[in-house]
Amino acid sequence: MANDLQFSWELSGTGWAVCRIADGASERKDAVSYCTDALADLLHGVAGLYGPASVQRFSFDLEPAEVRWVLRSKGSDVEIAIYWFPDMFTSFDAPDQEGTLSWGSTQPRSLLGHVVVEAAQSVLRLHSEDGYLAKWGRYPFPVAALQDLRQLHLQHDGCERQHDAIFP
Ligand SMILES: [Zn+2]
Repeated sequence: MANDLQFSWELSGTGWAVCRIADGASERKDAVSYCTDALADLLHGVAGLYGPASVQRFSFDLEPAEVRWVLRSKGSDVEIAIYWFPDMFTSFDAPDQEGTLSWGSTQPRSLLGHVVVEAAQSVLRLHSEDGYLAKWGRYPFPVAALQDLRQLHLQHDGCERQHDAIFP
């Protein structure tokens, strides 16, 4: 369902985050581990939609499962597909279709960019950089990746929703 997209990223405990995405029809929620720089990978992946490559892929480690996001540019829209694999250790180089398609939606890039920027900013606002590192553990808050995506979104999406400063 187009134009109805919610996304949130919440640090749920030491080394874990809950990633939630939902459209008008269904939602997907995953507990993501700190083994990868997951929030940075997400921000870089969405930022990649503003470049020449039409497909972006990144994975979250659910220990042991893998959840792989595949983002495909279709004009001004993005086809989002989330695949699930039982074991990240063996599936990291497996083709998408060997996983289970567990969520999918097609949304305007402007909306996806917006909700991801907003979600990352609210993580930073809530925890600060120090608090984030203390909770997430292995990686610092991806400030540069957030700034890049925010800039791309503001420059190229013609988004008329409200945008707060990253550091208020
Ligand atoms: Zn926006």
